Amino acid sequence: MKKKVTKIGVLSSGGDSPGMNACIRAVVRTAIYNGLEVCGIMRGYSGMVEDDIIPMDSRSVANIIQRGGTILKTSRCKEFFEPEGRKMAYENLKKHGINGLVILGGDGSFRGAQIFSNEYDIPCIGLPGTIDKDIAGTDFTIGFDTAVNTAVEAIDKIRDTAEAHNRLFIIEVMGRDAGYIALHSGIATGAENILIPERKTIIEDIISQLEEKERRRKLVNIIVVAEGDDFGGGNEVAKVIKERLPLLEVRVCILGHIQRGGAPSCMDRLIASRMGYHAVECLLEGRHNVFVGIVNNRMNYTPLNEAVKKKQRISEEWMKIVKILAS
Ligand code: ADP
Repeated sequence: MKKKVTKIGVLSSGGDSPGMNACIRAVVRTAIYNGLEVCGIMRGYSGMVEDDIIPMDSRSVANIIQRGGTILKTSRCKEFFEPEGRKMAYENLKKHGINGLVILGGDGSFRGAQIFSNEYDIPCIGLPGTIDKDIAGTDFTIGFDTAVNTAVEAIDKIRDTAEAHNRLFIIEVMGRDAGYIALHSGIATGAENILIPERKTIIEDIISQLEEKERRRKLVNIIVVAEGDDFGGGNEVAKVIKERLPLLEVRVCILGHIQRGGAPSCMDRLIASRMGYHAVECLLEGRHNVFVGIVNNRMNYTPLNEAVKKKQRISEEWMKIVKILAS
């Protein structure tokens, strides 16, 4: 018989993403609507280990739906990797009477939640808060839409300059292990080439394509590179191209952290609100130790034990579309 959840803790962990605040708001207000008590756990798992835990009410999440970042702050917590750290975290939760957790974060945070929920009798619900969209079991992650729109806006601006000067621009976007931001922003801005960690980059192919485009007088080219591409980031790609095609005017732009911040898009606010609501429903209904996703516009619940084993794959269809549309 599963124990009834009466008091929940909510935290954001790992990399921040726009929409986390909208999600925290949804969790807090849904919990209160259902008569539960709620605490905010500060700085991810660090707040659990160090007992940085505060009570929350409906007013404490007022006026945050439109704000990027996370009011609960976030961190990467070394202690949580160790059994002693997790034991301290458990004792602190017990002290506060917290008997259910909602964890907003990426795959690393889910791994922490999975280990913790296997060791202790506190049910955990994961919510996919990451700009990388690399979690299998959901079509959307909270923050991806905003991040990719920020990248699109920036690349559109860069294209204006590229057109004015007949230049090749190499634009590096975020994505250490996942190429989704590069893929989506590249397609949406008509990039000539998109380099992602999930596909081996063959630099010779890129050079021969550029040579062929030069012959056709197609002189404005945008190449979008994910920071974790196997060939290296934007600077590495630019270096080789400059060596091989010295007459080409090449510029590099690394978009960096602007992709994480800013007001969440409407889409991110919506999925954050919907997922946050369902996370509390899961705790109430006894659907424990899962992460909440959306697949084909329906809620989808993946056990944390399975979630940490799989990664979202990039379909061949996308890669074919990139090739055909960039010709
Ligand atoms: P993200 O959730 O954005 O992928 P990280 O990979 O940095 O971010 O993970 C966030 C935190 O989750 C880590 O700092 C750590 O506290 C916890 N965590 C990640 N992996 C594990 C693990 N194998 N065991 C215990 N805790 C983990």
